[in-house]
Amino acid sequence: MTANPLPTRTPWTILRENAWQIAMYLLGTLLIGLLSWLLGLVYLAYSLASNGMYMAWVCPYCGHYALGTCAAGFDLISGRRFRPVPGRTFGREFRRRSWVLYPGWFLPPLVGLYLLVTSFSWPVLTLLVVCADAFWLLPQTSKSHCEACETVDSPRYPKNRKSTAGA
Ligand code: SF4
Repeated sequence: MTANPLPTRTPWTILRENAWQIAMYLLGTLLIGLLSWLLGLVYLAYSLASNGMYMAWVCPYCGHYALGTCAAGFDLISGRRFRPVPGRTFGREFRRRSWVLYPGWFLPPLVGLYLLVTSFSWPVLTLLVVCADAFWLLPQTSKSHCEACETVDSPRYPKNRKSTAGA
């Protein structure tokens, strides 16, 4: 019944935790840049800004953020300058505000499909497949630290799942 111990956090583990996300944003910028470099730069700027908004809107309600144990190091990046609004919970804010990250995930595959239909090329297909992989890889990497956290009301990994399943 003991919680999984949190893995030790180092600069290397923080970089590893963010690697797929950074790779997806850079490859997405490249892919969208094949359509228009201006749009590619707008996508990159939005991706960075959306993570800042996620830090402000969702992270302050997460137990990892408050304890300084976020595997992705978001508490370090923000200097924990964002504070939770009393009465709000992680689950509620996650459901209401996670949309801010979705354009960063969906735009590269959509632009990739458009480019494949209008002018097929193998580099575009390769970039599309790698960017689409992020849909599976990103939730998998974040799930590992959700499992180790007992203080977060996470819609992705409800803490009462085991007791519900065993009932
Ligand atoms: S675990 Fe997720 S929600 Fe929690 S502080 Fe880190 S990035 Fe934010």
